[in-house]
Parts: sequence; C-alpha cells; structure tokens
Amino acid sequence: MDGTLNNDIEKVVDADRAHVWHHLIQHKPFETGAPRIIVEGKGMRVWDQHGKEHLDAVSGGVWTVNVGYGRERIANAVRDQLIKLNYFAGTTGSIPGALFSERLIEKMPGMSRVYYTNSGSEANEKAFKMVRQIAHKRYGGKKHKILYRERDYHGSTLATMSAGGQDERNAQYGPFAPGFVRVPHCMEYRAQWDLSGEEYGVAAANAIEEVILAEGPDTVGALCLEPVTAGGGVITPPPGYWPRVQEICRKYDILLHIDEVVCGVGRTGTWFGYQHYGIEPDFVTMAKGVASGYAAIACCVTNEKVFDMFKEAPEDPMDYFRDISTFGGCTAGPAAALENMAIIEEEGLLENTTAMGDYMLDQLSALQDKHAVIGEVRGKGLFLGAELVADRDSREPVDEKLAQAVVGDCNAQGVIIGVTNRSIPGFNNTLCYSPALISTKDDIDQIVEATDKALTKVFG
Ligand code: PLP
Repeated sequence: MDGTLNNDIEKVVDADRAHVWHHLIQHKPFETGAPRIIVEGKGMRVWDQHGKEHLDAVSGGVWTVNVGYGRERIANAVRDQLIKLNYFAGTTGSIPGALFSERLIEKMPGMSRVYYTNSGSEANEKAFKMVRQIAHKRYGGKKHKILYRERDYHGSTLATMSAGGQDERNAQYGPFAPGFVRVPHCMEYRAQWDLSGEEYGVAAANAIEEVILAEGPDTVGALCLEPVTAGGGVITPPPGYWPRVQEICRKYDILLHIDEVVCGVGRTGTWFGYQHYGIEPDFVTMAKGVASGYAAIACCVTNEKVFDMFKEAPEDPMDYFRDISTFGGCTAGPAAALENMAIIEEEGLLENTTAMGDYMLDQLSALQDKHAVIGEVRGKGLFLGAELVADRDSREPVDEKLAQAVVGDCNAQGVIIGVTNRSIPGFNNTLCYSPALISTKDDIDQIVEATDKALTKVFG
C-alpha cells in the first residue's frame, strides 16, 4: 500500500464514523471501534486503513470483483470512454453499449437483447415489469403472477423483496407487492421430503408445479430462480431439478427468469450458471461480475421471443417497453464490461475457475473430515459454502454468533470470508467463499488454512 490517496486516514475514519450509513450492519460497535475502510487493492489482496493486508476470499464483500483489483486496462478503457462520451440516455445507443451487447450475446446462445440498468435489483425489476406488461398485452392482465423460491434473493427494492425468499431479510419491511408467490427451496441437505439425489430434485421441481396448479396456470407469468442460490446458503441444485423445472415452464407457458446477478460472468466456471444445467431461459439478469465493480452496470437480457412481444403492434402507441433507467445510459459500464470479458477470455479464467473451484472444494471437504461442525461443503466453481451445524445427525444450525466468530478469526488472520444468515437465526449458517477468478492454489491454501485455524479456535 503506497498511501498516496490517504494522507490523513484518521480524518477519513472520523468522517465515516460521523456520516456514513454502512450497508448491512448495526452501527453501535462503531461508537467505540472504527469501521473498516479498505483503501487499496491489487490482484486478490486489499489493504485497510491500518495498512493491514487481507486476502479477499469474497471478491469485494459481495461476489463482485471477478477479475481482481488494480486492473489498469479496465481503468484506462473507462477513462478513454469517459473523455470521449460519458453519458447519453433515453432512446439513443452508445458505442460500448452496442459492442458489449454483441459480445455478451455471443456467450449466451438463444438470447438476443440486452437492456442496460445499474443494479441487480433494477435488472430483476425490469424483467418483472416485462412479465407484467406481457400479461396485459396478451392475457388481459391475468397471467401476471411471478413465482420465486424460498431462500433465493433478487434485490433490495420493495418489488424484488416481494420476490424475496429470505424471511430474515424481509422482516419489518412489508407490506410487499401483490402477485408474487413463493415455491419451496431445493436444498437436499435440508430436504422437505424423505428422498435423495434425482428423486429429490424431481420432487422439488414438482413442488413448483403444485404451486402453479394451486394458483391456476393461467395466472402465472414467470418463474424467477437463482441457478445456484447465493446469499440463501450457497445452495446447488439437486440432480434432475432443472430439466423438470424447464419442462414445467414449457407445459404451462411460463417464462423462465434466471437471476445470474451472482453466478454470471464466470463465477461458477461457465459464462453463466444456468449453462451448467442446459437451461433455456427467457430472461437472464446479471450485475456484479459484469464489470467486476470497475463501473456500475447491470443487464436484463431476453430472448427474441420476449422482445418480439413488445413490437407486435407498432400502430399502438403503448406497445413498447415504457421504461427507462437513467444510469443505464452511462458508457463507463459497458466499456468496463468489454475489458472485463476480454480479460476473462485472454487469461483463461473460466478454466482457472473450474480447476481452482474443484481444488478448493476438495480442500474444504478435507476440512470437513477434521471438523465435525462442518455439516456440508457445496458449491460450483469459485462459489463455495461450508455449512456449520451444531450436530451432524440432527443438522441443527450452529449458533450464528459462533459462525460469525469464525469469520472474525479469519479476518484477524488477514483472510476475508463471508457467512450467510447474519441477522435472524434460522435456516443455515454457511461460511461463504468467492475469491476472484484469478485465484491460485497458494491463495486457496491460505484461505482454507485460515478457516481450519479459526474452526479449531472457535470449536476446538
Ligand atoms: N440477485 C442476487 C442473486 C443477488 O445476490 C443480489 C445482491 O446481492 C441481487 C439480485 C441484487 O443486486 P443489487 O444489490 O445490485 O441490487
């Protein structure tokens, strides 16, 4: 850390303590202790206000910095673009917007249109709005319901929270928007039926069909799912689940919306998480890894079938998607996203993610043999979780304070890891790992070693 941007860090800390409302945290501890301020980053590592180095195993806290920190080529591309044209919105296009759309669609066979927005929540709301408009245009408003799954998360706005499957996040923020209906989760480790493997996967998908039948198929417009559930506990789908889900959507003419805000752009070793499972979506939303946090950009991508529904009656002045996103017109986003994608290709980061993800899964599984508190290790690519349980037989979740203590001890060792379910005790307490796609074996060894030591310290 060279300190050039931080001549008076104490003043910065005071300003932060006095005026910044931090995300996702109670502020009481800041009255006596200082908030952590990350000052600088390079590759997999970041430095805080004390100059302490941390290995970042969560890609910027929330699964975002896929290509790592300090990428000058992205910064230069953004700088050049900003000087040429920073912004123009409304009905117009931009050069980076057009070029990134083309590159993105190349990676998504079957998809064809990119709608730019600036956050994952907003991208999801765009898809919800499209579903609602299609319901009005084609079905007299009736086929408007959007199904979402227990444990999935789609954003922080009230409409996306209405499709929020994590009660611990939703508590105290209702009432929510009507027309969103919950379907059961698909987590085999916490199975709702006495089944396993493919039988469990098909049963979990069939449970969606039951909800559709109860609601009335002619009222259900779309099903919105994460390919691998992220904040809900790093839940990988059981075998047999996705083919059956796809079949059900086709049977009842229900649009399939895949939320790739976390899994998208390489995180699981393919460009998109859904591509592991042969899914053919109608909507794909993405945000975090699209430009690795070098600029704010999110996309709601649709296939041509969806797009066509918005241009079938050109004589009708209402027959288009009557929506805008002010910052969807920022050119920095697609300029950064183009470079981000080029880096992933040129450096073979999808292949690295698969190889390092497998390695990390093995290493975490070895920890499971040593620490009884690890109930299950799961994940895909460099998106992994280790669920902590008080008892392996009953699978009772470990006290969340203890899970938090493991995270705290890793932090003290200079390794930043995450944990799901921080606020209300409940479904699972899962240690989360999502290091950048550039991770090496040495990085992973350091992360796993820190976890090992922390588990020993907290649980013996
Ligand atoms: N969808 C998923 C799966 C997410 O994990 C998140 C954020 O963590 C969102 C949507 C919302 O994205 P944003 O915070 O950019 O609005």
